Formats: sequence, C-alpha cells, structure tokens
Amino acid sequence: MAKQPMLKFVSVGRETPQKRDADTRAHDFDEIYAEFAAAKAEEQASRCSQCGVPYCQSHCPLHNNIPDWLRLTATHRLEEAYQVSQATNTFPEICGRICPQDRLCEGNCVIEQSGHGTVTIGAVEKYITDTAWENGWVKPVVPEVEREESVGIIGAGPGGLAAADMLRRAGVQVTVYDRYDRAGGLLTYGIPGFKLEKDVVMRRVEQLEQSGVEFVLNCNVGEDLSFDAIRGKHDAVLIATGVYKTRDLTGPNAGAEGIVRAIDYLTCSNRVSFGDTVEEYENGELNAKGKKVVVVGGGDTAMDCVRTAIRQGAESVKCLYRRDRKNMPGSQREVQNAEEEGVEFVWLSNPVGFATEGETVSAAMVQKMRLGQPDASGRQSPEVIEGSDYAEEADIVIKALGFEPEDLPALWGTEGLEVTRWGTVRADFGTGRTSLDRVYAVGDIVRGASLVVWAIRDGRDCAAAILADLDAPAAVAAE
Ligand code: FAD
Ligand code: SF4
Ligand code: SF4
Repeated sequence: MAKQPMLKFVSVGRETPQKRDADTRAHDFDEIYAEFAAAKAEEQASRCSQCGVPYCQSHCPLHNNIPDWLRLTATHRLEEAYQVSQATNTFPEICGRICPQDRLCEGNCVIEQSGHGTVTIGAVEKYITDTAWENGWVKPVVPEVEREESVGIIGAGPGGLAAADMLRRAGVQVTVYDRYDRAGGLLTYGIPGFKLEKDVVMRRVEQLEQSGVEFVLNCNVGEDLSFDAIRGKHDAVLIATGVYKTRDLTGPNAGAEGIVRAIDYLTCSNRVSFGDTVEEYENGELNAKGKKVVVVGGGDTAMDCVRTAIRQGAESVKCLYRRDRKNMPGSQREVQNAEEEGVEFVWLSNPVGFATEGETVSAAMVQKMRLGQPDASGRQSPEVIEGSDYAEEADIVIKALGFEPEDLPALWGTEGLEVTRWGTVRADFGTGRTSLDRVYAVGDIVRGASLVVWAIRDGRDCAAAILADLDAPAAVAAE
C-alpha cells in the first residue's frame, strides 16, 4: 500500500523559512525570509490533515483551495499545485509574502488548535508560485477570442490589476491609468522591499503588459485627464484608486518642518531602492540617516516606517503608540521583527504637540496613557495620566496614523457618484457596481484602508460583474 503522504503534523514540527539575522538584514532592503528548499516545502505541506471542512480556506478572502495545493506540493506535483493555486488568486506569491496569515488562513488552521502549530500556508503558497516563475509556468494571458469592448481602470494597485487580468482573460481591451510612473500601487511604492521585493511586483506588471493590458502612467485622473473623458472612451470604468489622505497630528507645531507623512517617506525610500534620484532623500528631508526618528502609530504602516528608518541608518528609532502591545492594530510578527532590528516601542504614549528649534521639530511632547474601560467597539480606551508629560527628542517625526479617502466626487467633478459618510465610494460588495451606470469601484477606495488580498478579491469579483454587464459570460481563458 502507498505510504500516506499527508497528516504528518504529529511527527513533523512546524517550521517557517529561515529569517536572516537582524544585524545583517537591518542594512539592506532585501526580503528577510529565505525561500523554502523543495524538500522543506514538501515536508511542511505534508503536515496538513486534509480537513473535510477546511477552516483555512473559509478564512482566506480568496477561498484558495489550500488543502489541494498542499497535497499536490507534498506529492511532488508542483506544476499542478501552481495551476490550482493560480485559479483563485491573481498574485499568490505576493499574498504568500504579505498577507497577515496569523489573522486569516493560518490563524484558523485546525492543527494549531490541537497544539501542533499551524501549517505554514503562506510560505508554501509563495514557494509554489516562485517555483512556477523559475520554471516558466507563469505565462502571459492569451485570450481565446478578442472582444471589442474596452474597460478603463483608474488605479494600478492590486485591485485594479486583478480586475485587468481577469478582463484580459476574457478578451476585453483594458487600459489602466495611474498617476505614478510605475504600476503596482502600494505594492510598488508603499510596502517596503524587505517585505516584498520590487522585482516580484514588476514581473507581474510586465506579464500584464505582455498580455495586452495598456498602461497609461503619469496620468493623474482629475488633473491630466478628466473622469468623464475616460468614461466616454470606454464601455465601463473601474475606480481602484486606494486611500491616500493622511490622518493628521494635532497640537502646537504639528505643522513644523521635519514632521512628514508616512506615505511620502515610504514612497521616497522605495523610489531610492529602484535607483531613482529623489531630491527629498538627497537633501535629508525624507532620509533618516543619523537622525533621531519618532514614528507615531501602531499599524502596519508604522511598522514599515520604523524598519525603513533602521535601514537608512537612523541614530535611534522610537515608535509611539497610545495603546499597548496587545491592543495594537499592527501584526505581532512585524513588531517582533522591528524589535530584533533595534526599534524601541514606547507603548501607551500620545504626542500632544511638538517643540521646535527655529522652524524644525526637535521633540515630541508626549503624554503617557493608561487603558480604561472598553468602548462601544469592545477595545479599552486610552486615558491620559495627568502630569506624566515628557519630551521625546526627534529630528524627524513620521505620521503613520492611517489613511482616509480623498473626496473623489469633488476632485473629479463627478455628479451622481455616491460616497459613504466616511468618503469611500459606495459600491456593492461582490460586484463593485456604483451609483453610476457602468462605473465600478474596488479595493481600499470602497473598503477603507484594508489588505492586498481583499483588493484582489474585489478586483476579481468586479471583473466577473463587468463581464456580466457587458452581456458576456465570465469566460476564463486557459493560460
Ligand atoms: P492601491 O494599492 O492604493 O492602488 C491605488 C492606485 O491608484 C495607486 O497606484 C495610485 O497611484 C492610483 N491613483 C490614485 N488616485 C489616482 C488618480 N486620481 N489618477 C490616477 N491614479 C490614481 N496589505 C497587506 O495585505 N499586507 C501588508 O503587509 C500591507 N502593508 C502595507 C504597508 C503600507 C505602508 C500601506 C500603506 C498599506 C499596506 N497594506 C498591506 C495595505 C494594502 O497595500 C492595500 O490594502 C492595497 O494596496 C489596496 O489596493 P488598491 O488596489 O485598492 O489600492
Ligand atoms: Fe493565506 Fe493570504 Fe494565501 Fe489566502 S491568499 S491562503 S489568506 S496567504
Ligand atoms: Fe490543512 Fe490546516 Fe487547512 Fe486543515 S485547516 S486543511 S490542517 S491547512
């Protein structure tokens, strides 16, 4: 009888890919996790117990067929594993790298609940598709039939690109407009290379170009080209513009020089990693080298800022957050990585103003907090500890308090495009249809700041709705 290839979780322990040691990785922007070796990926995949009701799958926003691709990996059928994996996920190797797996697939793996440590789903997903790229299994899309209809997509982030891919598979003509000079959205200019190396994103953009997707870059819709012009040119328009308005700090001198937005700081650093010359980096405005850096915020953007500052050679990096470690929104894995790299977290602290030398920030005036009663959302509210104020020295302060949507109807002069009271575009979940005929919206501009995997899900679902509305079956061409 053939040997049972799966259910090895009792005899084989959980292992993640090796992490480069903190001293080495803190000096470059390369990813910090190594690739699984083939034998290790197979071994780790073989730990899966092949649940009849796989909770990993139901908690993956894309409902990836995880047990199947784990079994195929464990039994050396990697090309088939890739086919199964790519059938539900446009960018599996990207999700494998940056999904917060502990809150999604892995966080719901049943063998973890029996005390054996979750299957390393994300690392195997990354391994399968990286191997597919190495072996030439990932190919440009060749639609079975070309269609005349065209769709204009505003925003080349994961939401827009996932929709572009699905629409091209069905033979639709696709043009993607973006205000940046490179496609990818936050995959390219937000998320740093130590989480997601840029060639991983760029090869996907090239694949889409080779599939016939047209990119119109350096095109700020609303300024360089009107929304109505795009609408007039295409049979349907998809808005996938993300959220970029920074939540601001308040208090005395909150507008001082040296207090900068996280998105500007990270975009600049990513541009430098691409080899671009960026004036704000050269003149020190967005460069942490030799500086005392204070980052305000407790989410993943704050984690990316502190770890970028370490790599730029900051003298010290402190992260101020008004709640404690347990109650922060950012991933615990990222906090641990940041601490290993030399970041100091100052929990329960809130800046209420800034001291300056001349025009430039010299310190954050910090109030210490304690956690009080839970609020309506169940989270404990931070309360001020009177008389606990102190000055935290800072040469640069990075605001990483989250993002809000820009006011699209005002910016674009679009009448009839309904937004919610939070300013996000009102669109049907599951189709992306908005209040305007043949205008759709997906990703962060609908959900508010969210996750890459949700943007991909929205983009795929919306493509199916667009195809239905164009009166066509959502045919998916074989690769
Ligand atoms: P975006 O990726 O924001 O793309 C929108 C695109 O629209 C951009 O390219 C922008 O230039 C373009 N655009 C906007 N306005 C216009 C206009 N008027 N004209 C033309 N183009 C326009 N998620 C994770 O899952 N894991 C992570 O580790 C993670 N880390 C993150 C780190 C940071 C620093 C940030 C900011 C976010 C992070 N996220 C992470 C969240 C994730 O990046 C977003 O949820 C996701 O990128 C949203 O995709 P999107 O396609 O909706 O928008
Ligand atoms: Fe897990 Fe994200 Fe992959 Fe889904 S897409 S299986 S949540 S890593
Ligand atoms: Fe395998 Fe865990 Fe998913 Fe069950 S929940 S199918 S053990 S990965």
